[in-house]
Formats: sequence, structure tokens, C-alpha cells
Amino acid sequence: MEKQAIGVDIGGTRTKLALVDESGAIHLRAVHPTPRQARPEALVAELVTTVKAFRHEVEASGRPIEGIGFTVPHFFDGPDWAQCQTNNMPSLEGHPVRPALADAFGDKIAMINDLSAAGIAEYAYGRGQGTERMLLIAIGTGVAISVVTRDQGLIHYSWDSTGDTGMIIVDPSAESLCTCGGRGCLESLVSAPALRRRALEEIERGKDTQLARIKAERGDLEARDISEAALAGDAVARDILDRAGFFLGVALTSYLHIFRPNLIVLAGGVGQAGALLIEPIRRTMGRLASPWYLARLQGIEVSALGQDGQAIGAASLILQPGRFIR
Ligand SMILES: [Zn+2]
Repeated sequence: MEKQAIGVDIGGTRTKLALVDESGAIHLRAVHPTPRQARPEALVAELVTTVKAFRHEVEASGRPIEGIGFTVPHFFDGPDWAQCQTNNMPSLEGHPVRPALADAFGDKIAMINDLSAAGIAEYAYGRGQGTERMLLIAIGTGVAISVVTRDQGLIHYSWDSTGDTGMIIVDPSAESLCTCGGRGCLESLVSAPALRRRALEEIERGKDTQLARIKAERGDLEARDISEAALAGDAVARDILDRAGFFLGVALTSYLHIFRPNLIVLAGGVGQAGALLIEPIRRTMGRLASPWYLARLQGIEVSALGQDGQAIGAASLILQPGRFIR
């Protein structure tokens, strides 16, 4: 029987569980709200209950598992996995989660930052297959990149990741605060909450846009509505994505010069806007980037794994230990 593992993608709002095999295929999945307790012990205990129930379901179907990989939307440090820079899950700051997870699930567990997991999965099973150097940028609630290369696997030197890369500064004149406490970060300008905020401001100014009608009907807006309106030709929605594409192009130019990827992959909910973002990204990079690096960039594409990359990447740490993190 093919080896299988459980991948648990702990997001700021939702936790996704998946039973994954060695080819990256998902055989069973579940989604739950991420626990929000103020006491970290209680939060981890609820998480353990959710994962145990999923494991029970997997084992009841006669499928033995090799272990469980977890992703978190921030970073962690040390042998007990003390959580750090937990902007989207503040109660976990400083809390060591490994002892409770090892008590519940034994030693065959792994943890990784969610972007690192998504990068590993995309390189192994998605658009990155066969590429020499791939850079994945996820644009959702948070924004960050990961880089995987044929020779080195996952590029990691800071908390098993390329660092807090959504916090690269692309607008030094920005006034509003980022979730990290800084100003002018890429994340504060192009994340799903940032685009939603921008759309609400445009509606407030009385702009003629179908976003205003969606807001009036539903009482709220999501970043996805902006992509859909832009695809349908809405000028205000297009402008919002165009501006996001400009800032992404500024950041990606710097990443291009640092990591010299052959392929850039867009992931995350906002990344699904595809061509509507890729066009302004290309235009901006074409103007700013060094031609030497630009000539070696073969493509900018949308992720093949969608929202599943994190869970698949987490499981692959168990199924292929040592392949990506060396
Ligand atoms: Zn920031």
C-alpha cells in the first residue's frame, strides 16, 4: 500500500486537514474553524481534538498513516516549537506547542511555516516540477514568498523559511500600520484585507462600481468579489488589482534580484486573479528589473494546487523526510 500522512494546515481563520499520499494526491479532507481561545493550552487542546477525530476517521477506513505534519501561518523556534511573530493567532505568541502535540500523536510529527509548505508542494507536485529555481508568492490574508531550488531544496535560513518576506517595504510614504506594526509593507498593500479595505474606500467616495451594488446587497465584500468584478470589466475593481499588481511587481523585482527564480508562481486567494495581476506585475518588472535577471525568468503562473499546497507540503515532510529541508 502507498504511504500516507496527514497534513494539517492551521490558518488564521480555518484549519484544513488532508490525507495525502506520496504522489501528493489528497484522499480525504476536512475543514474546521481555527480555535481562537485566549489561553494557548486550550487552543492547542482543541486543535488536538480536531486532529484526533480526523485521524480516527482515516484509521477506521483501514488506512495506516506514517505521521502528521502541521503548518502555521507564522514562525516558531527551538526544539519545542515556541511560536513567534504570531500576528494572526496572537494567543500563541511564545507558546511551545511540540510537547502537547507529541503527547497526543507521538514522535512522527513535523511543523513548518505555511509558505514553506506551499513552496515545497508546488515544486514537488505543481507548477514547479522540473524547474531549476522556483519562487512562490502567496497573496491571501497574509503575504509571503518561499523559494525552492533543484540543488538546495527549500531555501531556509530564518525560522525554516526565507523570512518575513511580506514585510518588504514597497511604499515608504505609507501612513497606515501593517499587522506587523511596521509601515509600507507589501502585505499591508496587497493582502486580501487590504484590497477589501481599498474597495470599501472607493465605494465610500461614491465611485460607480458593481462592488457598491454587491456591498449593498450582501452588507459586506470579499477580496474575491474584486477579482470577479474586474473579470466582468468593472473599472474600479480593475484599478484596485492594477495597483496591487504594481506593488507586487516592485517587490518581485527585488526578490528576482535576490533569488533569481526561473519561475514565479502566484498562490493564495488573491493570486487566483491570475492575468489581472500578472499583466501589471510584468509591466512593472519590465520597467524596474535588471534585464540579465529578467531574461532568465521563464514564466509567471498561477499555482496548480490552489488552497491545498500547505497541507500537501506539511504531509510531504513526513512522507519524504530530508528531500526538501536539508
Ligand atoms: Zn508588515
